Amino acid sequence: RKRPALEKPLGERILEALPEGARRVVLALREVFPQGIYLVGGAVRDALLDRSGPDLDLVLEPGVRVGEVARFLVERFGGSFGLHYAFGTARVRVSFGLTVDLAESREEVYPYPGALPQVRPAPIAKDLERRDYTVNAMALSLATLELLDPYGGLEDLRNRLLRPLHPLSFVEDPSRIVRGARLAARLAFRFSEEALKALPPALLPEVLKGASKSRLRDELFLTLEEDTFLEALSLLEELGALGPLYGLKLPPRDPFVRLRWEPLEEEGFPPGRARMEARLLLLLYFQENPLEKALALGLPKRLQEALALLLKGSWEEVDKEALGKEPLRSVFLALFPEKEGWLTEKRRVLMGRDLLQLGLKPGPRVGEILRQVAEARARGEVRTFEEELALARRLIGDGSFSVPQ
Ligand code: ATP
Repeated sequence: RKRPALEKPLGERILEALPEGARRVVLALREVFPQGIYLVGGAVRDALLDRSGPDLDLVLEPGVRVGEVARFLVERFGGSFGLHYAFGTARVRVSFGLTVDLAESREEVYPYPGALPQVRPAPIAKDLERRDYTVNAMALSLATLELLDPYGGLEDLRNRLLRPLHPLSFVEDPSRIVRGARLAARLAFRFSEEALKALPPALLPEVLKGASKSRLRDELFLTLEEDTFLEALSLLEELGALGPLYGLKLPPRDPFVRLRWEPLEEEGFPPGRARMEARLLLLLYFQENPLEKALALGLPKRLQEALALLLKGSWEEVDKEALGKEPLRSVFLALFPEKEGWLTEKRRVLMGRDLLQLGLKPGPRVGEILRQVAEARARGEVRTFEEELALARRLIGDGSFSVPQ
């Protein structure tokens, strides 16, 4: 079939879909490195969907050095970089706010299912082989602008399907299931027939026992950072994976919808992180044995303590100050919206020693005045500490007390 005359070659369309800064970086690399550099993974996928994110993932074939490319980018555009010799990777932060991840092209060998892979240098085709879904296994050659698509990712992208590259993909790395659910929720994709068939064997206890706990945890936390995390969790539940992977059940939706963020950002939390933490606390709150689950997920002590506090339930005994701090505050208010007034009521109230400072002698009048001020407070007649003080002054001044000194 002939293309319409106006349709540009795919490679050029991908370049055009990149944000300005990313395109500058890619064009500069094309000029200087005649071959061996590829734009890969999410960057290609997102550009083809016209929803480019801020970061670039580049893979370098043997012969192009990660250090050399990183140095070139920093010389040309300013910024800084960190090298991981052991992994053959580098992260460049270009001065105009772009992060470029560089990785040497490699293949992975899994010593046993679920184990962390061993890696060695290899051509780009091998690098694509070890990826999770066909739509993530495409690469754009910067030299020729040719799109490498060995697994039919473009077709799956059009049909919005997540298809693993081979039937044992999930057994090799069950965290790919979570990545899939996250992408499906974010991009409105579906798991392919092959994906659905590949699931059950990967969810067997003997497979999950060998799976990397830290990868699974990281993917859960990344999922909780997304706006569509509830859809992702529901999908995992529908697929029968939420229990086997994490020992979690689907929580009710309403409290998550009630989470409010303004206060988090005011307190200078990095927003993505704080949202994730609040959602995580809420998710655990609705589980059986929440504290055990928190421990199993390796939650930092701070969050474990926050969870313990939430679980206390008898709020009158709890120190309000602790509940007033983020991310606990948002979670508390999402769970108990009716407690908002109680929680935010932190103002100072009149105490006996304030009356002594006003010159009142210790004695029953102190208690009597405190009682009258408290009643006025309950009726809403005094709203600030200053107003309470003024009222106390008036009460002391007019001698209309029946209680003798
Ligand atoms: P996001 O938009 O969430 O960052 P991404 O696809 O760029 O999506 P990354 O986590 O940055 O996600 O991963 C980059 C690429 O590495 C993916 O596109 C995928 O090809 C590959 N990848 C990441 N994790 C795995 C995994 N567990 N198994 C196989 N391939 C993976």
